[in-house]
Amino acid sequence: METKPQSLLFSLYDEGIQMDEEGWYSVTHEEIAIRQAQRCASRVVIDGFTGVGGNAIQFARMHCKVVAIDIDPRKIELALNNAKIYGVEGQIDFVVGDFLQQASSLKADVVFLSPPWGGPSYKNVKKFTLDLLKPKDGYSIFRIARKITPNIIMFLPRNVDLRQVKELAWLSNPTLPIEIEGNYVENNLMGITAYFGNTTRTSRLR
Ligand code: SAH
Repeated sequence: METKPQSLLFSLYDEGIQMDEEGWYSVTHEEIAIRQAQRCASRVVIDGFTGVGGNAIQFARMHCKVVAIDIDPRKIELALNNAKIYGVEGQIDFVVGDFLQQASSLKADVVFLSPPWGGPSYKNVKKFTLDLLKPKDGYSIFRIARKITPNIIMFLPRNVDLRQVKELAWLSNPTLPIEIEGNYVENNLMGITAYFGNTTRTSRLR
């Protein structure tokens, strides 16, 4: 039986998941969000760009305590509704706010970053450079997250300039371990995840 496209986003889609227009093209596919969350089981995680909750919900299902931030109040309403469908709303603190402004007052084991890629047109550029991320360039977003913790996970377009992504690790002081993976859904490359600090596989084995 063929899987419905919306069930690839949320397996419980038919139980009452709600989305808005931006949510449709920006939510992380559930399979990818589960994989990302597996790196941080039972830790305190800040999801700086929560959207409709695709990632925050999977972190909570992996027994994390989650601080879920989004600048758009409607997104937080939708994310709360969606977390209730999965029965994990009790593990998530929902915050309407600007992650970049709030970061200096936050503490966590891991920061997850899936900032806007600038709409579906990100696919049209040959190489997606980090300055194309919103609401600020990727170097600035990373630097702000780095003040909270070196353990950072970044979800980026499949055409991202990998040299720049690695540069984020080298430019850190001290230099951070980094691991990069391609994320496929039904054999299509949907995005790239960069794991920094002790969210990498090698450092977790230590
Ligand atoms: N990972 C999410 C999708 C994130 S889309 C999911 O799976 O559902 C990116 C989100 O970043 C959008 O919802 C947008 O409202 C939010 N955003 C943009 N600028 C922001 C800022 N400065 N602080 C917090 N959230 C912001």
